[in-house]
Amino acid sequence: MRAPLPPPIPVEEAQRRLSAQVPPPETFVIPFGDALGAVLAEEVNADADFPPFHRAMMDGYALIAADTTDGPVVLEIVEEIPAGRVPRRRIERGRCARIMTGAPLPEGADAVQQVEKTEPLDGRVRVLAPVSAGQNVAPRGSDMLRGARVLHIGQPIRPQEIAVLAAVGKTSVRIYRRPRCAMVVTGDELVDPSETPGPGRVRNTNGFSVAAQIRQIGLECDVIGRAPDRLEEIRGRVREGLERDVLVLSGGVSAGAWDLVIPALEAEGVRSVLHQVLLRPGRPFFFGTRGRKVAFGLPGNPVSSFVTFEVFVRPFLRRMMGHPAPERPRRTARLLEPLPKKADRVQMLPARVEGTGEHLVARPLPWQGSADIFALARANALAIQPRETPLEAGAGVEVVLLE
Ligand code: AMP
Ligand code: MG
Repeated sequence: MRAPLPPPIPVEEAQRRLSAQVPPPETFVIPFGDALGAVLAEEVNADADFPPFHRAMMDGYALIAADTTDGPVVLEIVEEIPAGRVPRRRIERGRCARIMTGAPLPEGADAVQQVEKTEPLDGRVRVLAPVSAGQNVAPRGSDMLRGARVLHIGQPIRPQEIAVLAAVGKTSVRIYRRPRCAMVVTGDELVDPSETPGPGRVRNTNGFSVAAQIRQIGLECDVIGRAPDRLEEIRGRVREGLERDVLVLSGGVSAGAWDLVIPALEAEGVRSVLHQVLLRPGRPFFFGTRGRKVAFGLPGNPVSSFVTFEVFVRPFLRRMMGHPAPERPRRTARLLEPLPKKADRVQMLPARVEGTGEHLVARPLPWQGSADIFALARANALAIQPRETPLEAGAGVEVVLLE
């Protein structure tokens, strides 16, 4: 006989229990080019001034601004300074150097006049318009001073941060270790998307969508494959999955006779931390641990699986990755249509949010229940309807922004 299911707990209580179980993040050092999507676990400082010298910002002539103030003037050209060349001649009054963008300004010069505002003469140049001191020159250290903090702990590494790491010569970088994840789907009725489902069968969507949710936050996910609703088969997949840090299972976590995921997890030494939450969709959600390993059991209905991943799994994984703000942003929006149906649980409903800043509106998307992935595909938010609370059109509603 199966033990009766524990009573469902409020979403916030589930979130508290989950936060308390996040294993302390480990850090390690990797080549900076591999760090995309990880979170920085050390401070990074500028190793030099940026720019490292007074730098020409235009192709033109490095000169003394005071020479140009009394109208057009002819200056003698003393040298050419392409980017990468060190100037050798000091600029005196009446003289200039031809200079290219990115090249160091020569001694004595205090401005660059762009080539479009000059006229070439033989060995000399006529400067047609005046420039002021400092014009078209980026002074040494004007972007960043040597020793200044350029990246901080907790910064997610995007292409921009890769550029900063390259610029300051930080070729090895300490990051939070990214947990490795495994995905197992269960259900006798499932067929591969490439197949045409026979009578009573459905295509496996979660195996792909949940793996995509994991990959979207920058983690690798090994899809271990489908298990039929048989204890030994599920146990085998669980054993394999728990070789990784995080195992996510879909289906088989309710109270039915064929819901064998939790018995399989328990048989493999996973201790239940929570099972059943006051959330619609997503009530049968399960979470357990075995030492530092964690296992999530998502309900098989595709929308339930999506929502419980969003509400519980995603913040957990992002905490493991060292993200300082692991949760999706929430806003208040004005409901365009009523949400008349009250439920004994919090509802998180697919919605479309539009507008900006203070003026967000949310349109709940008509959905047919927790298998309706088509409504989900139109959604860019989840609208949160508190338990036992019908909402009228025009009322404020809290929304979780998915994009
Ligand atoms: P379960 O959570 O196993 O009771 O499944 C609930 C419902 O979700 C059933 O209608 C299943 O057919 C369906 N379902 C379970 N797993 C998947 C899956 N991987 N892809 C699509 N539908 C699924
Ligand atoms: Mg099932």
